[in-house]
Amino acid sequence: MNRSANIYGFMRRILVTNDDGHFSPGIHAIAEALRVLGVVTIVAPQVEASAVGHALTLRRPLRLERIADHVYSVDGTPTDCVNIAIDEVLDGPPDLVVSGINKGLNIGDDVTYSGTVAGALEGALLGYPAMALSLQSRRGDWDFGPAASIGASLAGALLERPLAPRTFLNVNVPVGVIHGLRTTVQAKRNHITKVDQRLDPRQRPYFWIEEAEDSWEANDLSDHRAIQDGWVSITPLQPDLTDHASLADVEALALRLASRAGR
Ligand code: MN
Repeated sequence: MNRSANIYGFMRRILVTNDDGHFSPGIHAIAEALRVLGVVTIVAPQVEASAVGHALTLRRPLRLERIADHVYSVDGTPTDCVNIAIDEVLDGPPDLVVSGINKGLNIGDDVTYSGTVAGALEGALLGYPAMALSLQSRRGDWDFGPAASIGASLAGALLERPLAPRTFLNVNVPVGVIHGLRTTVQAKRNHITKVDQRLDPRQRPYFWIEEAEDSWEANDLSDHRAIQDGWVSITPLQPDLTDHASLADVEALALRLASRAGR
């Protein structure tokens, strides 16, 4: 049996997207590594869409362009790409959605900004196994090789045994010597953003949002710590942002308001 075939003999469908754009070497590295597992189709943003989060384009038309065999671009967000891929490009539902390999980590609180993570989140919301994959940046050229091979191994494992519905993996790969895989939780960051104001030639102000210094809360279980220690960080994520620990506090607050209204 062909290695790309599943137990039923059909070829698996793997959708690959990202937020760096369809031309990014990171997306082609993971697509190539995934080819042993099935038919890989890239549907990715036409231009870089980093930090667009889970945005969905609803107020303008979207264009799909065929770039090459099994490579398409959409002039939208990673979330747009996943939807258009599944509705219009793939010849059936995907067995796996992979988003990446992103140029730069997506850890801790930053996952809420991440277009890479959102691509996998959308796959999970639509009911498919999904994984986001990001590589730590370093000086000099990017080497996507190790992240691609780790991503492909994890993809194979997910295809064999999917996680619970709506749960997806956020995988971050450090540069340098890799000690192994560590299961992690999201780190908390004391976020410091600097807004740089300048003047345009007509003396009107404009702004650049700068990522200023970060201080991360110490946590041995966190994704941030794993990367610092040279381990691949694997965090299971799910779309539910509910703070279950605060339900009782909010219930008490609602009761206080109700009793005041009743007075
Ligand atoms: Mn990116």
